[in-house]
Amino acid sequence: MPAQILDGSATAKKVREEIKAETEEIKSRTGKTPHLAVIIVGEDPASVTYVKMKKKACLSAGMHSTVHELPADSSQEEIKDIINALNADPDVHGIMVQHPVPKHLDELDILATVSREKDVDGISRDSLGSLVTGEPIFISATPAGIIELLDRYNIPIEGKHAVVVGRSIILGKPVALYLLNRNATVTICHTRTRNLAAITQQADILVAAVGKPEVIDGSMLKDGVVVIDAGYNKVEGRAKDVGDVEFESAAAKASWITPVPGGVGPMTIAMLLKNTLKAAKRQMGAGPQ
Ligand code: NAP
Repeated sequence: MPAQILDGSATAKKVREEIKAETEEIKSRTGKTPHLAVIIVGEDPASVTYVKMKKKACLSAGMHSTVHELPADSSQEEIKDIINALNADPDVHGIMVQHPVPKHLDELDILATVSREKDVDGISRDSLGSLVTGEPIFISATPAGIIELLDRYNIPIEGKHAVVVGRSIILGKPVALYLLNRNATVTICHTRTRNLAAITQQADILVAAVGKPEVIDGSMLKDGVVVIDAGYNKVEGRAKDVGDVEFESAAAKASWITPVPGGVGPMTIAMLLKNTLKAAKRQMGAGPQ
């Protein structure tokens, strides 16, 4: 049977409609508007596009969004001063620093400045540490989007063997921890993994977080696997971005699969909005999160 599609675009639309409705309810009840502040350092074209998308998404959900555009040669202290001011501003509920920051900066140190209550991106040391202890306030948006997608399609996680290919701080490691917290048995693979295919072939759930076009194909998967492809890769001569998974051969083996685009990507922004709403509710004392 051909794989069924995990439709991230449709699911994200539904999540965003729910968030919008709840945002409007909170605004009318408290008179306050959830507010996400985004800091972008430099003018990396992809980052500029992502930041614009985040602002647009906030506005369409009825939230405020302010963007702090800083020059590429900003110092560590200048950026931290802005974050500290945003931490102290009661009208700002969520803060995110667009990844990556220019190479001369210490990104982990910058992220550590964001207060835990406002770390809606969930990738500070504090937030990642709380994912290890199993008590996170915010889970970073892409990992959270992946789990939300599985949950909304009622795909069981507990007891499954989840293989995550990639171990970055923003994606591979947190999604692996989140799957572990949900009682999957988790294997993490990376560039030093020997015989990757022998491991991916054992996956009930395969999460590709590699950043290389189509490095995983159907021959590396077992029948019935659930494939989550977080990759977005530009390939010369191809009209569309491609994932880390070769779709056709993987879809022939999978029970469920995310397309690229239209799978994990749209879920990421939806989860950033969800985290911002949660942050606002916690800080306003406006009901259950
Ligand atoms: P990253 O920081 O470059 O990490 C890539 C990981 O993949 C590393 O851990 C690396 O291993 C591993 N890897 C690379 N080549 C491999 C190979 N041939 N075999 C096994 N492992 C390999 O990338 P990232 O930031 O996590 O992003 C990964 C992908 O997800 C990218 O395509 C990115 O665009 C996409 N992404 C999408 C979203 C979204 O949908 N919203 C958000 C974030 C990222 P080592 O650690 O050994 O180097």
